[in-house]
Amino acid sequence: MKVAIIGAGMSGLACAAVLAEHGLEPHLFDKSRGVGGRMATRRIETTLGTATFDHGAQFLVAHDAAFQDELRRWRLAGAAAPWPAAGGDAWVGVPATNSIPKHMADGFAISFETHVHSLARRPSGWFLQSVGRIAGPYDAVVIALPAEQAAALLGMHCLSMARVAVETPSTPCWTLMCAFAEPLPGPSILQDRGIIAWAARNNSKAGRDGPDAWTVHATADWSSQHLEEDKQAVAATLLDHFTRIIGTRCPDPLVHTAHRWRFALASTSGRGALWDAALALGACGDWLVAPTIEGAWLSGRQLAREIIEGHDLGRVGTAQRRTG
Ligand SMILES: Cc1cc2nc3c(=O)[nH]c(=O)nc-3n(C[C@H](O)[C@H](O)[C@H](O)COP(=O)(O)OP(=O)(O)OC[C@H]3O[C@@H](n4cnc5c(N)ncnc54)[C@H](O)[C@@H]3O)c2cc1C
Repeated sequence: MKVAIIGAGMSGLACAAVLAEHGLEPHLFDKSRGVGGRMATRRIETTLGTATFDHGAQFLVAHDAAFQDELRRWRLAGAAAPWPAAGGDAWVGVPATNSIPKHMADGFAISFETHVHSLARRPSGWFLQSVGRIAGPYDAVVIALPAEQAAALLGMHCLSMARVAVETPSTPCWTLMCAFAEPLPGPSILQDRGIIAWAARNNSKAGRDGPDAWTVHATADWSSQHLEEDKQAVAATLLDHFTRIIGTRCPDPLVHTAHRWRFALASTSGRGALWDAALALGACGDWLVAPTIEGAWLSGRQLAREIIEGHDLGRVGTAQRRTG
């Protein structure tokens, strides 16, 4: 059974892993140049070496027993390590947040820079349409995207699944990345300082070299109000707020830039995953479980199990018809 998975973030990769374990053939598609989605890392050259910024998800916490086991495996593989600065239960990818999705993606068929804009269901199976390319046929399709992006693809084929996605909106997040020649004074994590919800010294995480690199997230309210503003103007405003928090000893940055996460933190439907066996179409993502890396992982695995159960039932039915 060939399954197309649109989105190679945590939920899509977790779904692919379970499908592959059961002998199905996942093929992932992502519009970006790499895996990980919001588990993202940006590297920027400075006069003092490469500054590394985990500019999306900051750390992960494992509550679920199966996810704790998975985290142990990532640690053994050298892809994850604790981050004591964020608390006794906080973990990060090593040497970057996207090391975990890269580790998970090893061996999978993935088409990068492929923005899937529509799906077509024909008698031979599902086809994915992106600019200049049609891929297929596939026996099933998994949509592993933020709710707003999932809604656009689901709406063409299943209004009830699309409605769940539409009713589960996300909040945006403007992120400042800035690096300094000298380590800034004070703690490595700052929270809830006016329009700044979170700021973290990236090189306080395991395996990060280079200059003192800070990721600074604006609050959801401020990000919403300034969503369509120019990137450099937003970077300048956030830098001004951040340096005022640090105080008079804050030097000029070596580099600074901003990134807009239009769909950053999900609200949640609590549905786990969506699967329509008759259509062979489903959706997974953090918005179906919890707005976290763990939530995305759990959703991807749940959807894979539902696909496998349907696939196994289909095979039993076929065998019974043959013997009958
Ligand atoms: C600023 C920020 C801070 C966060 N902090 C934390 C944290 O500290 N701890 C935590 O646990 N979680 C955190 N999160 C949330 C966490 O990152 C997400 O819950 C999780 O990574 C979601 O995974 P996902 O697979 O559901 O979606 P995504 O990671 O969004 O993956 C979706 C993928 O689909 C691709 N895509 C989108 N549209 C298309 C298309 N049409 N065709 C092809 N590909 C497409 C994207 O490129 C992306 O790779 C944070 C998120 C943000 C943005």
